[in-house]
Amino acid sequence: MFFDIVIIGAGPAGLCFARSLSGSGLRIALVERQEEAALMAPADDGREIAITHHSQRLMRELGLWARLREDEIGTLRDAMVLDGDDRDGLMFRHDEAGKSQLGWLLSNHAIRRAAYAEVMELPAVERITGAQVTTVRTSSDGAEVELANRESLHTQLVVAADSRFSDTRRAMGIAAGMHDFGKTMLVLRMQHDVSHEQVAWEWFGHGQTLALLPLHDSHTSSVVLTLSPQAMKTLLALDDAALEAAMAERFQQRLGAMRVVGPRCTYPLVGVYAKRFVAERFALIGDAAVGMHPVTAHGFNFGLLGQDTLAHELCAALTAGRPFWSASVLQRYERRHRRATRPLYLATQMLAGLYTDDRRPARLVRKLALGAGARLGPFKRMVMSGLTADSTTIPTLLRRRSV
Ligand SMILES: Cc1cc2nc3c(=O)[nH]c(=O)nc-3n(C[C@H](O)[C@H](O)[C@H](O)COP(=O)(O)OP(=O)(O)OC[C@H]3O[C@@H](n4cnc5c(N)ncnc54)[C@H](O)[C@@H]3O)c2cc1C
Repeated sequence: MFFDIVIIGAGPAGLCFARSLSGSGLRIALVERQEEAALMAPADDGREIAITHHSQRLMRELGLWARLREDEIGTLRDAMVLDGDDRDGLMFRHDEAGKSQLGWLLSNHAIRRAAYAEVMELPAVERITGAQVTTVRTSSDGAEVELANRESLHTQLVVAADSRFSDTRRAMGIAAGMHDFGKTMLVLRMQHDVSHEQVAWEWFGHGQTLALLPLHDSHTSSVVLTLSPQAMKTLLALDDAALEAAMAERFQQRLGAMRVVGPRCTYPLVGVYAKRFVAERFALIGDAAVGMHPVTAHGFNFGLLGQDTLAHELCAALTAGRPFWSASVLQRYERRHRRATRPLYLATQMLAGLYTDDRRPARLVRKLALGAGARLGPFKRMVMSGLTADSTTIPTLLRRRSV
């Protein structure tokens, strides 16, 4: 079978990329190892994704936003960063940014469901689900993707969106810088007596990091807790009643009583940055290119941005009558996406280290950073405009969630 582009991985990035190319005239194959039923109704994976203004605009343009139910959209009005036993943290207020809110919160499974529904309506996209890729070969003449059922897909360009642990990246011989933070992150939906008032919390306590992400209902939030794997194992051994009491205690009872209302989902904290995003007739997008530490809540925002950049470069080449798979087109994508993501990726690695370090010097630097940040108006304005501007530059501090 022949296609213009074969996309490997029907996660949020691969799906949005297929959708971005609709109307381009390109014939696309989308290969995914999960079965179609799981893609149409994705399981709740506990992740609540913070969405910037720029990403929201892209989601609207792609038709995803219109497919979300009202109760699936949480408002991120303000954000607060707390350090240690602080009672009043550093506040980032929407009105200081001249916006009605700083951003939005959406469940990852709702994003996936909406994106898959969009792609199902595209006649130019052939969905090959429940499929295992065994071999990827590229050369100056074209590319070939072989599946476990021995089917061969011939194509002009392969685009891999197969997660931060991408097998395709490895098969193409592309190295990646990986950093394992040695921590486990628990995401858990909880109800609480005190309203969240649409304020996200990032709380750097001693020996733990907590985040509170406000959901649509004013008394329901996604709680994000990062601990050492051993401490997490002990916590997860608790039954719901004991876990609820433990969480209320960790939040110093500031939210009143807390109740578990979602699945317990844990993730290892590993940051990944591919050494190259492109090769001959090949490109990486999504987490396969840049797998952010969730502390800056930016993996999907970058995934959306990257697929948009690549789709624009390919379409510009098509319009100019140039081969869309040529090295110069792919390298332009690589340059633009690297420029957009590298500084934040590096800053995130540094911050994640600082905020998981409970030794005294690190605590002091944190205190100084938050104190100075609170006092300096220009610094706050810079942080705010990054979150709310319809651009790609999102500042570091607010993108932080939990380390
Ligand atoms: C706890 C947590 C919180 C987060 N919070 C935020 C946030 O607030 N804001 C934000 O922007 N981002 C956030 N992220 C990051 C975001 O979830 C990811 O960046 C995003 O889901 C990555 O999408 P993707 O499509 O690149 O990869 P994935 O979602 O990993 O999808 C990859 C797809 O490829 C398929 N696949 C893999 N290998 C193969 C193969 N060999 N053949 C065929 N198919 C294959 C998989 O089945 C999967 O469907 C968070 C992540 C975590 C873990």
